[in-house]
Amino acid sequence: MRPTGRLHLGNYMGALYNWVRLQDEYDCYFFIADWHALTTDYARPGDVHGKSLSVAIDFLAAGLDPAKTVLFKQSDVPQHAALYTLFQMFTPVPWLERVPTYKDQQEQLREKDLATIGFLGYPLLQAADILLYKPKFVPVGQDQVAHVELTREVARRFNQLYRSAVTPEVAAAKPDKELMKAEISENVLEEVTFPEPDALLTPSPKLPGLDGRKMSKSYGNTIALTDAPDDIRKKLKTMVTDPARVRRTDPGNPDVCPVGDLHKLFSSQETMAKVYDGCRTAGIGCIECKGWAADGLNEHLEPIRSRAAELEAQPGRVEELLRDGARRAAAVAEPAMHEAMVAVGLRRA
Ligand code: ADP
Repeated sequence: MRPTGRLHLGNYMGALYNWVRLQDEYDCYFFIADWHALTTDYARPGDVHGKSLSVAIDFLAAGLDPAKTVLFKQSDVPQHAALYTLFQMFTPVPWLERVPTYKDQQEQLREKDLATIGFLGYPLLQAADILLYKPKFVPVGQDQVAHVELTREVARRFNQLYRSAVTPEVAAAKPDKELMKAEISENVLEEVTFPEPDALLTPSPKLPGLDGRKMSKSYGNTIALTDAPDDIRKKLKTMVTDPARVRRTDPGNPDVCPVGDLHKLFSSQETMAKVYDGCRTAGIGCIECKGWAADGLNEHLEPIRSRAAELEAQPGRVEELLRDGARRAAAVAEPAMHEAMVAVGLRRA
C-alpha cells in the first residue's frame, strides 16, 4: 500500500482486513510502498516518511502482527530498486504501455505530468517487489490481476534469458523452496531464478464513500480508520442515501443505499433486521438509520483506534519495528538479488 497518510475504511475493507487473516495461514511480506508514492507525487512528495509511519501505525492497529508477518518500508530494502534496474534492461517498453492502468491513470490525473519513466515503469517496480521474495501467491483484488500477469511475464523472460544449468547433486543439496521448476533433460537440471507467482484473489468489496462514489482519498469522501467517534457520527450525517427516498414518508431500499452497505459490513443481524424493516416501510428516518450505522462502525473501530493511539505515543517503537521488518525482508531479498546478479553475470557465485 502506498503511504498516503491515514488509511480509510475502503483501504481496510478492500485490503488490510484480508491481510490480517492471511498472516495466520501464510508467511506474508507486507510493505509500505514509498518509492511508489513518488511515481505520481514526485513534484510534491511532502513528508513521505511521516506518512509511511502513519500507515504502519494503521497496519499494526488493524491487526498486522510483526510476530507473525514481515512488515517493512520498501525503500529500507535497497534490493527492490536494484532488481527493478536489472529488469529494466530486458523489459520491452510496449509491455508497460499496454498495462490497462497506464492510460487510465494518466487520463484521471491530468493535472500531473505523468509522461515519466517512473510512472511508466511502476508495474515493473511492482514485479521486482514481488519476485524478490519468490512468493507462491500475491494477494490482490481483481484490479491488480494485470500487474501480476506482467510480473509472470517478467519472471519468464528473466528465466529464459539467464538459464542456469546445475548438476543433480547441486540441485539435491538445495532446499525445496530454492529449487523451483526444475526441468530434467538428460541428467541436466535447469534451475529458474524466479518462479511465476499466482494471484490470490482476495474479496475486495468496493466500499462507497460519503458521496456514494468509491471511497478514495482523491475524492475527499473518506472515513479514516482512526476518526474520532463524534467525527464519524457527523460525517455519516452527510452521507448520501437511497435517492428514491426523498421525503421521510417515502419507503427506501437498503440494498441501493451507501449507508446500507456500511450496515452490512459493520452492524449486527438484529440492527440489520431493524434497518431493512424500518427503511422499506418508512418506519424509520435516514438520520436514525445513520445513527445506528455510526454505532456499529464505532464499536468495530474502537479497538483499532485505541491501539493506534498507543502506537502514536511511541513513534520510536514504530520506527524500530519497521527497521526490524526491513532486516527480516533483506534476509530474503539479499540472497535473491545475489542469485539474480550471478545469473546475469554481474557477480560470481
Ligand atoms: P485511494 O483511492 O484512497 O488512493 P489506494 O488506491 O491507494 O486508495 O488503495 C489502496 C488499497 O486499498 C488497494 O488495495 C485498493 O484496492 C484498496 N481500496 C481503496 N479504496 C477502496 C474502496 N473504496 N473499496 C475497497 N477497496 C479499496
